[in-house]
Amino acid sequence: MLIALLPGDGIGPEVIAQAVRVLEALECGLVFETAPVGGAAYKAAGHPLPPATLDLARRADAILFGAVGDPDCDSLERAFRPEQAILGLRKELGLFANLRPAKLFPELADASALRPEVASQIDMVIVRELTGDVYFGEKGMRRTAEGLRQGYDVMAYDEAEVARIAHAGFKAAQARRGKLCSVDKANVLETSQLWRDVVNEVSADYRDVELSHMYVDNCAMQLVRNPGQFDVIVTGNLFGDILSDQASMCVGSIGMLPSASLDAAGKGLYEPIHGSAPDIAGQGKANPLATILSAAMMLRYSLNLPAPADRIEAAVARALAGGARSFDLGGTVDTEAMGDAVLAGL
Ligand code: NAD
Repeated sequence: MLIALLPGDGIGPEVIAQAVRVLEALECGLVFETAPVGGAAYKAAGHPLPPATLDLARRADAILFGAVGDPDCDSLERAFRPEQAILGLRKELGLFANLRPAKLFPELADASALRPEVASQIDMVIVRELTGDVYFGEKGMRRTAEGLRQGYDVMAYDEAEVARIAHAGFKAAQARRGKLCSVDKANVLETSQLWRDVVNEVSADYRDVELSHMYVDNCAMQLVRNPGQFDVIVTGNLFGDILSDQASMCVGSIGMLPSASLDAAGKGLYEPIHGSAPDIAGQGKANPLATILSAAMMLRYSLNLPAPADRIEAAVARALAGGARSFDLGGTVDTEAMGDAVLAGL
């Protein structure tokens, strides 16, 4: 199976290197091919997403992505900025489903903004629709009849868009504890009413999944009051943007959080949720665990290799239990030594 490695900028190559060490140690028949992306690609080939990189991403069975973002490129025209690479990959590959797990490793209970007894219950995945909703609807600036400036952004989903993300949510629930909570605002939004109707229709294909519905304002409250009630949450782009950041911070450092962006066939791009962290790049201070956990998601969701995925997650837990703490976790263990600790735990 071919894995496209797109390390990118800043700490991206540092954290990808550790994830590759872990994947190689598992000996599960993966072949790696690397291509530049982001600022590194702009400097090498004049574009943040060169054709050869896009071609590799298309050919590969899955993509492991580091991070993009380079202060040297901040004054470039928007189309050439490093961050355009990730948007381009999502669009070109049809990556419409964003999966973000949030799970508290017991050893990191102190890092959560919540009380340890509440935080320790968190073990969920948020499935967020990524290519529709208010971000992609008609938008603009206009004048009202009274001459006031008015900004507007149209929220819209069609039933096919809702159905495909609902399927992704139900499948994620099947791969976990079998509970799906669909989050909307159906009490006031027509878009949400359609969302709820379509999710109910799709549920007929997944009798083994227990479906519930929740309004987004209540969900925001429940995430801090009783996060242990959630297994998988499925929601639209806007609500998912906000709720997934909220859930992330309930489990501690940004250096711990993996993510996946999937297409309709389950092919995906896997990346840590953090950026290129130029402030610590080249210093050995990056925590590679978010990327290593992203590699575990890749094995589970795109390559159908759940057993080695479990091994990686268990090894990360062992490394933390053994006291390995990178700088973001309040320790002094450098990037490579964090990789060593995970390898030792395999
Ligand atoms: P960031 O996530 O790069 O960094 C935020 C803070 O968290 C920094 O203090 C950083 O040192 C720390 N941090 C991040 N990852 C860490 C890790 N693995 N270990 C330890 N500490 C870590 O966000 P930012 O500073 O807002 O953005 C920097 C650049 O990254 C920008 O160019 C931005 O556009 C880009 N970015 C890219 C992505 C992506 O590639 N998907 C995502 C977010 C930001």
